[in-house]
Amino acid sequence: MLQAYLFIIVLTLFNLVIDVPFALYRTFVIEEKWGYNKTTKGTFACDRLKGLLITCVLAGLFMPLILWIIHVAGSALIPCLMGFSIFVILFVNLLVPVVILPMFFTFTDLDEGELRTAIFAESEKTAIPVSQIKVIDGSKRSSHSNAFVTGFGSFRKVVLFDTLMNTHSKDEILAIVNHELGHVAHMHVLKFAAISIVKLTIIFSLFSLVLNNPEILLSFGVNHTSAFMALLLFTTILDPFNFPLQFGEMYIIRKAEYEADAYACTYNHAEGLKSGLIILFKHNKGHLIVDPLWSALNNSHPTLIERLQAIDKQIAVSDKNN
Ligand SMILES: [Zn+2]
Repeated sequence: MLQAYLFIIVLTLFNLVIDVPFALYRTFVIEEKWGYNKTTKGTFACDRLKGLLITCVLAGLFMPLILWIIHVAGSALIPCLMGFSIFVILFVNLLVPVVILPMFFTFTDLDEGELRTAIFAESEKTAIPVSQIKVIDGSKRSSHSNAFVTGFGSFRKVVLFDTLMNTHSKDEILAIVNHELGHVAHMHVLKFAAISIVKLTIIFSLFSLVLNNPEILLSFGVNHTSAFMALLLFTTILDPFNFPLQFGEMYIIRKAEYEADAYACTYNHAEGLKSGLIILFKHNKGHLIVDPLWSALNNSHPTLIERLQAIDKQIAVSDKNN
């Protein structure tokens, strides 16, 4: 168990050493050149250390648990691993906004005023309760802008990047917030969690095949039965099989973006959303022309042109109905 844990930590350190020069170049050369970088070398180093700490803690929690499940589950391995994956997904969803994000960003309450009142009015209109509106100091690291909604029920928070507040008008921010509320209305987080659980169940079922076939381990030069080695080997050979699945996954995520845009249109935010998206695009210097195959595999959001066209279609439909 300790050996497996140490192996994960050494592997993480190894990946960190390889990644750091690239990350330094990306942040302090490329992002700097285009005026996005706001990170200092101290913040950069501090972020890496915090990331390493999080990996150590999470690996320390999950690694023994997963190896223990494999050890004791016997014929009930798949349902046990499924239960474990539900636990991990819930744990991560609850942990990220409450513990991990505050380690990297400072959250402050949005000042009383017109925008705050208008966002709460938006929450009332859509019947999606929001308890807090926070501003996150994204500008400390980068001038890329964004917004998101996090938490459940009465703990739900709307989070705005300070960079978004500096670049968008009130109507545009409201349209973007309404788009985020659209994700809540369509239960996208729950749907994605369900998809992840199905995916993990398939992966775990395949893993039990590897675990129960010592020949597979032998063919890779492992001459003893080790749950950890089977897990490690399995995750390595899984990668090429994951590749085609990514097309399907990205398609579903992009479809959710169209649904959230359409939702904002039904609340009369079509024009605000269009101009808000154009400003975001200009500000983040997005790609205007994207290779369709690359986009199908990598883009979690439809391109700006695709989104604008879809919003225009929505406007045409609602004009026809009125
Ligand atoms: Zn979205």
